[in-house]
Amino acid sequence: MNLSEKFKSVTCEHCSKKVDPTATNCPRCGEELLNPEEKKPFLNDIHCGWVRNLTCFLTGWAGLQVFSLIFSLILQIAMGVNNDSSAALKASYMMTVQCVAYGFIFLALIAILWPYLKEVFRSFKGWKPYVAGVVGFIAMIGINIIWNLISRAINPATGSNENQQAVVSMTKSFPALSILFFGLIGPIVEEITYRVGLFGLAKRVNRVFAYVIVPIVFGFIHFDFSSIGQASFVNEILNMPTYILGGLALTFLYDRFGFAASTTTHILNNLFATIAQLMPTGN
Ligand SMILES: [Zn+2]
Repeated sequence: MNLSEKFKSVTCEHCSKKVDPTATNCPRCGEELLNPEEKKPFLNDIHCGWVRNLTCFLTGWAGLQVFSLIFSLILQIAMGVNNDSSAALKASYMMTVQCVAYGFIFLALIAILWPYLKEVFRSFKGWKPYVAGVVGFIAMIGINIIWNLISRAINPATGSNENQQAVVSMTKSFPALSILFFGLIGPIVEEITYRVGLFGLAKRVNRVFAYVIVPIVFGFIHFDFSSIGQASFVNEILNMPTYILGGLALTFLYDRFGFAASTTTHILNNLFATIAQLMPTGN
């Protein structure tokens, strides 16, 4: 398959639907398609075609940002939130923005992938993705511990970044919603955006390129750009490798074991982080 062939669609001889040229089996009816051998590198992908790859990525990335921004401005006025507002009001404002934005984008992504949901659910069959997901989770914890030690050696004042600090205050005020949105819906939205969307698209161009670009983009979306020129900038930079390496691990899991595996790791990782924040601290 050359480059342009991966950006066209083929017609399934069985159900005569237009399908992704990288699929070994028709994502719609399951019948085997021509030349399965050369499509092996794409075996575990969600075969939704490059247009849906791109749409998922733009919706989950730019769509989420734009929606959050507009909705947060409206809500700020509606709730009368400003710098002097109480911490409780600020927390409920931030939580509402997060839940509505993630909920809306989640539904939009489901609608985009609607004809391919069967293939998404199929990736959850069998024990392999769960074993890979748990191993991936343990590896992510290992990466976190090791990088924490390194970054504290570089800068002893390293703490959690802005992103995490805002999440902590919301989690404590709304534990059940936090578990649902940060532990479950957030990871699913990000897996559809960055693995099905961005990785699925970039991999059609080149696999190595896809492995480079996805973790970098994943690192940057967790970076607080308002820290540039501030004291917290070093902290933000030192938190980047965790996200980049985490993004790399999730990308590998998706590529090798499918959507269910990377989603399992991502959910376990976020559930663990959310529940850890709810635990009373010893000091
Ligand atoms: Zn078919």
